[in-house]
Amino acid sequence: MTERARFPLGSDATIGILGGGQLGRMLALAAAKLGLKCHVLAPDPQSPAFDVVHRSTTADYTDTQALDRFAADVDVVTYEFENVPAETALFLSSRRPVLPDPAVLATTQDRLVEKQFVVDLGIGTAGFAAVDARAGLEAAIAAIGLPAVLKTRRFGYDGKGQFTIRSSADLDAAWAAIGGQPAILEAFVPFEREISVVAARGRDGQVACFDVTENEHRDHILKISRVPAAISSAHAKTAIDIATRIASACNYVGVLAVEMFVLRQGGKDTVLVNEIAPRVHNSGHWTLDGASVSQFEQHIRAIAGWPLALPQRRGRVEMTNLLGADAADYQRWLTVPGASVHLYGKAAIREGRKMGHVTVITPEQA
Ligand code: AMP
Repeated sequence: MTERARFPLGSDATIGILGGGQLGRMLALAAAKLGLKCHVLAPDPQSPAFDVVHRSTTADYTDTQALDRFAADVDVVTYEFENVPAETALFLSSRRPVLPDPAVLATTQDRLVEKQFVVDLGIGTAGFAAVDARAGLEAAIAAIGLPAVLKTRRFGYDGKGQFTIRSSADLDAAWAAIGGQPAILEAFVPFEREISVVAARGRDGQVACFDVTENEHRDHILKISRVPAAISSAHAKTAIDIATRIASACNYVGVLAVEMFVLRQGGKDTVLVNEIAPRVHNSGHWTLDGASVSQFEQHIRAIAGWPLALPQRRGRVEMTNLLGADAADYQRWLTVPGASVHLYGKAAIREGRKMGHVTVITPEQA
């Protein structure tokens, strides 16, 4: 890594962001709050982040000429999505610091490697087995049992590339549904709740976690996040401890989210890790209105080498995603007392597409 940048970055620095979706947009807005400039590189000329940045580049992630110019214009590079091609990260990190370190991408881009990494830290996950080809599916089921969830090892998100197998009659359909790619078979977790922890880790190793969030999905896509999660303080502490250990084990710099399941097992509640997202996360959007510092600002602070803030929650918070045609509801939300409306500036409405979100805060009883 070229350490041309001197940390902490000055307040006149330029942050380079790979990816121009709503996460890049909200990162850029947080950077602007701190006086920093952003340059976003993304392939889609209609990228929502382009509307709010100092400079933008429309280019493929493999366009080395564009990447070279981008690197020359920025002091540090970060990313808003986990599927940054390894060669892009390598190319950029020979020119500028890339944070979080791209090594974490190799772990989180592959569900099998990710699960093994978590288990090696002594943290629980659903039982899992590798399935390299259709012929391996029966053996994996014999090991894991049914029901089970077959997931592609790579490029899965929002429930894409996965299939729940309930009986041995489903095997061919499951294999076809995930496109016949190298996969992982996970035991189906009969969870009571899905929770997540959004954690920030600074260059000095300091970790600051937001309060545990409870997440409700519709059709595998996050619909509502509620904070605090309706779990005991002991389980909240366990969840925060898990996220902290994961962030520290990767020597992580920036914000990451750890998605977890809470389930009743053998008469007691257990917390299992489902997934790590090496980036700001939808379940942390509530922090924009509901906390003293947002996940986006924490990420920018971390990668700039600035001190993290200690987040304080402003009440009970509910964040609702505006998905697809829900976005047409924004006028109604504008009139709801206490509701804070965020729209991402996406022109085309598609089913399930994240168009915006709304946060409602209710003061907690003293
Ligand atoms: P993922 O893409 O792994 O985050 O999965 C998307 C959603 O599918 C999760 O948020 C859960 O609601 C559900 N899911 C994923 N894996 C499992 C599992 N092993 N058992 C039960 N539900 C799961």
